[in-house]
Amino acid sequence: MQIIKLLGITILSLALIAGVLGCSEQEENNVRNESDTGTCDWVEQGPVTVVDDLSARLEAYVPTELTPDISHLDATQTAVLNKLVAASKLMNEIFLLQATPCREELLAVIDDLPANQQVGLRRYFAINVSPWDRRFHHEPFFGSWKHPEGANYYPLDLSEQEKAMISDPTQGFDGLFTMIRRDESGALKAIPYSKFFKPQLDEAAGLLREAAVLTANESLRAFLNSRADAFATDDYYESDMLWMDLDSTVEITIGPYETYEDGLFGFKAAFESFVTVTDPIESARLAKFKDELPWLESQLPIADDMKNTSRGGESPIRVVDEVYSAGDTRTAVQTIAFNLPNDERVREAKGSKKVLLRNVMKSKFEKILLPIADVLVVPEQVGDLTAESFFLHTLWHEMSHGLGPGKITLDGRETEVRLELKETYSTLEEAKADAMGEWDIFVLTRAGRGYFSENIFKEQSATYLAGLFRSVRFGIGEAHGQANAIQYNYLLEKKAVLFHGDSGRYSIDVPVFEKAIAELVAEICVIQAHGDYQGSVDFINKYGVMTDMLAASLARLDDIPVDLEPLFPTYE
Ligand SMILES: [Zn+2]
Repeated sequence: MQIIKLLGITILSLALIAGVLGCSEQEENNVRNESDTGTCDWVEQGPVTVVDDLSARLEAYVPTELTPDISHLDATQTAVLNKLVAASKLMNEIFLLQATPCREELLAVIDDLPANQQVGLRRYFAINVSPWDRRFHHEPFFGSWKHPEGANYYPLDLSEQEKAMISDPTQGFDGLFTMIRRDESGALKAIPYSKFFKPQLDEAAGLLREAAVLTANESLRAFLNSRADAFATDDYYESDMLWMDLDSTVEITIGPYETYEDGLFGFKAAFESFVTVTDPIESARLAKFKDELPWLESQLPIADDMKNTSRGGESPIRVVDEVYSAGDTRTAVQTIAFNLPNDERVREAKGSKKVLLRNVMKSKFEKILLPIADVLVVPEQVGDLTAESFFLHTLWHEMSHGLGPGKITLDGRETEVRLELKETYSTLEEAKADAMGEWDIFVLTRAGRGYFSENIFKEQSATYLAGLFRSVRFGIGEAHGQANAIQYNYLLEKKAVLFHGDSGRYSIDVPVFEKAIAELVAEICVIQAHGDYQGSVDFINKYGVMTDMLAASLARLDDIPVDLEPLFPTYE
């Protein structure tokens, strides 16, 4: 469907609705003009060239069918699932409108390019939902159009004065759920999502309500009805609260959530959706793991007065398989775990929920982590890598965010680690969660809990080693990447990780690793317990660095995919 046509439908439907609701002629006219995204003449400027490494860029994303086993679902659950997938597809339609101005015109440019490039260009356009490469700072991979930082949320021709107006909270343009357009006089106008995307949101709401009628699960029914209401009111609070309470096998996360796509102000939320199913066996195991958290806190390798015995009420964790994803989350790098909602009022009342996408993790293990290990890990240890260890690493990483110093007292003053460590907090906390995740598994195993395989030490160590390179590849300019550089350099120093210059490969000394990882946990927790900002800066400056050796190792991974291109053949 063409964007222009789609907008045409938007305008037409709004006009009809306005008539039904008895809105004034004036309001209808305004809506017509507000929906105008401006001219697309800019698409036609200049000769269009294509980057010469397009095929390499395409190979960075490996097409992967994500088809979890859903044979345990009954007929009703399957029917609900199908409705939810249908609603999700509408989130995709909306997101395409949010992300890319003049999308259809840009796509049409491909028709005039060399025939042998068209298939690749269309695929890469679909991955990036635009001609701008999300892996390379939004530089165009064909054409020379400059990426609009504000995506399609704002008119492209904003003046500096208008930008100042938008960022002024008293002017009403900074809402999370509005599109900014011009009215007939050219002045800026904020249009609620419920109006701007009314055709798609009405249809999605209808599908959610139909699924609510079908489902036998009360928590899901309450959420679906409430979220359907939110699509019409732009008030997501109540349904976000209900989403926290979901206990159904078939689940959905759907709506406007993250604001990263708005690179201009970070104000506007992008629509996305995850349709998931829970695995009963995994859920039961997870419940047992959660019960271990107080015991693990008591075992932390730090002084007792640094331990955090007052946590409680921690955020829930769910392990699910992804059946379908749409919108914001479907672009470029695929999510393996997410933490929602973002509404601070909900977080205050109920915390937030961490959802781990097990089948996405398994696919990344097979398509990315194993190939990395084949290049950088000594052959004797490649066989020790397991998808289960990769999953356990992520799961225990998330659990470990709930362990160790959080609220602290400094000279009689009540404060938080986060506030004291300021901009260094995220990097240090991510390094802690990674290291402590491994430590948790080892300590539980040493204590005789029979949760894991008999080879867990070997498997966890080798999988962890390859995982360091997978994460650092995303760059040390970001907390997770830098946290992995910290671990890499720290463990090399402790001789837990060994580099073999002749082969350019690494090995991990399992007993030394077990000891060193406890020391790393201790060092970080002590910095956190003391709210030691300078200590955190020094630690990160010492270890969180891209050495020549690390850069050379990463360069050897150039031919290995960076991420998945998810395919859902059952539903598309
Ligand atoms: Zn984390």
